[in-house]
Amino acid sequence: MNAGPHHPRVRLQRVISAAVPTATERLPERAAVIDLDAIRHNVRHLVALAAPARLMAVVKADAYGHGVLPVARAALEAGAEWLGVAHISEALALRAAAIPVPVLAWLNTTDSDFAAAIAADIDLGCSGWELPLIALAAQQQQKTARINLKIDTGLGRNGSTPTEWADLVARARQAEASGSVTVVGIFSHLAVADEPDRVETDEQVAAFTTAVAVSQEAGLSPRVRHLANSAGTLSRPDTLFDLVRAALAIYGLSPFANQTSNDLGLRPAMTLRTLVSVCKEVPAGQGVSYGLNYRTTAPTTLALIPLGYADGIPRIATGGPVRVNGVTYPVVGRIAMDQMVIDLGEAALVASGSSVIGAEAVLFGPGDDDASVDEWAAAAGTINCEVVTRISPRVPRVYQNV
Ligand SMILES: *Cc1c(COP(=O)(O)O)cnc(C)c1O
Repeated sequence: MNAGPHHPRVRLQRVISAAVPTATERLPERAAVIDLDAIRHNVRHLVALAAPARLMAVVKADAYGHGVLPVARAALEAGAEWLGVAHISEALALRAAAIPVPVLAWLNTTDSDFAAAIAADIDLGCSGWELPLIALAAQQQQKTARINLKIDTGLGRNGSTPTEWADLVARARQAEASGSVTVVGIFSHLAVADEPDRVETDEQVAAFTTAVAVSQEAGLSPRVRHLANSAGTLSRPDTLFDLVRAALAIYGLSPFANQTSNDLGLRPAMTLRTLVSVCKEVPAGQGVSYGLNYRTTAPTTLALIPLGYADGIPRIATGGPVRVNGVTYPVVGRIAMDQMVIDLGEAALVASGSSVIGAEAVLFGPGDDDASVDEWAAAAGTINCEVVTRISPRVPRVYQNV
């Protein structure tokens, strides 16, 4: 693996110091707090695990909701050497921020702006149909496009089929000979690495190894072969090759059902928190939120939490945990657009002066007492990845340890 002579680390050091918002004494009333030291810790951990393979930090989808530029810079400081995104537009945003390292964008349509990508030295994923379009765009600006050929080893999404692969590598070799492209890498994506024992991963590794051999017989000499995602990097040394593409683990989340972040030596980077907006005593029989699906069974105290589905909290996630003053309560009743309710389960709190109005309410975070993203994922019937990625732009991101 070679980051390329035009990507010296010394240039990188200069862009890292660009300003990003930092945590102040007073957080915004609703905030996703991102600990960049956690990102750096996770990146260093993955770099060590993957070595001698190198690390591509995948920062698509605004770094899974964590904020692409601060995360990209922290990941590069901690030893990531490549960045990966789905769309060319996301790669261009990294270049616009003067990030000089290799950036791969792998999800194209016939409307993708290959010319802009080539002009910005972005590595392009190529399943086959893109090759003539990329080669033409490169010729028109008298540049050589950097491409990574993708083989579908079993996931059934992007990538050339094994049947068409020999033809694709032959066409790529021709395009190389004409100077329009250089095949920097060959890659594929794993389907079931979050279940490390599944035999399909063995089959994907074998199919990938064959595809690389076929490309070499056709005269290609890809510098980076890359297959592993976070789950592969953490559990399957046979998937590491020259470069790994990791996202979830960089954000400190576990891809495995039976292992926590802590078990894996990872630190969750995001804390989602706000302040209790209302706290009031209600009698038995009080209905809560739209549909009145929850009714108090005894006199109790309710607290209103000003986060809802417009902030990215799934409406279906009733029962999700919220910690207030050191105690974790389940959300009761329907989650609404802007707000949700917890039942403190005790009467006369307000009368005794124990109102929690203004107290911090933490939905998830890295602390021992905090609920985890996984608990919210379980409440919503989804995975941790989706929970953090969907935290909406209405929630300000605040950065710690910049
Ligand atoms: C999103 C993505 C990744 C990162 O996956 P994680 O499981 O979050 O590490 C890697 N490669 C490709 C092609 C992806 O789309």
